Amino acid sequence: MNIYGDTGNVLVLRRRLQWRHLPVEVVPVSVGDPLPSDADILLGGGGQDAAQGDIGADFVSRGPELRALADDGVVMLAICGSFQLLGHEFVTHAGERIAGVGVLDVVTHGAKERLIGNNWVDTPAAGRLVGYENHSGLTTLGPGAAPLGRTRPGRGNNGRDGTEGAVRDNVIGTYLHGPVLAKSPDFADGLLRRALARRGQSVELEALDDSLCDLAATVAVGRPR
Ligand code: GLN
Repeated sequence: MNIYGDTGNVLVLRRRLQWRHLPVEVVPVSVGDPLPSDADILLGGGGQDAAQGDIGADFVSRGPELRALADDGVVMLAICGSFQLLGHEFVTHAGERIAGVGVLDVVTHGAKERLIGNNWVDTPAAGRLVGYENHSGLTTLGPGAAPLGRTRPGRGNNGRDGTEGAVRDNVIGTYLHGPVLAKSPDFADGLLRRALARRGQSVELEALDDSLCDLAATVAVGRPR
């Protein structure tokens, strides 16, 4: 799935590795395709309710594999619709139940209202993340998931408790589209560091000129929702 620029997260990570002359291979995975067994990072984008239904059975069939990869410390970044499907279940506003895989201890229920607009999120691990939210699913975290951060102008997970996203081990879910990594370079490098550390590699990530990313983030933060 990919909406609101989420494929850009792939481009950002690939480019940040290439700029540092580090090896990178991107393997697209569609319905029915095998997951590469030695993947370092899995990225998932957002999707409309219908798209989530379309990939639902395939996604659920990958549950044991995805849970094993998560337990093994594989880095995952799941945006919006993928975030919801990494949870236990998504029940749409129409009452349709789309099962998730239970990698993240979260559940989502569709609401009538959509939560839409620029947003930023303050996180303990990666500072401020800047993106855009557009969802009707309201996500509640269980005890096995920590919030990624606090939502600021946006509604975040559910518009009620100020939380945004969820984290367990190296698995991160968030509602931030945008793509979020283009305006949150420290977060992007944080994912790369997690992946390298899992491989036992102590590679020092060379500093990059992130002035354009920072400018884009500043402009987005200054825009009305
Ligand atoms: N269909 C989901 C919702 O509206 C996810 C939307 C999205 O990925 N932007 O809650």
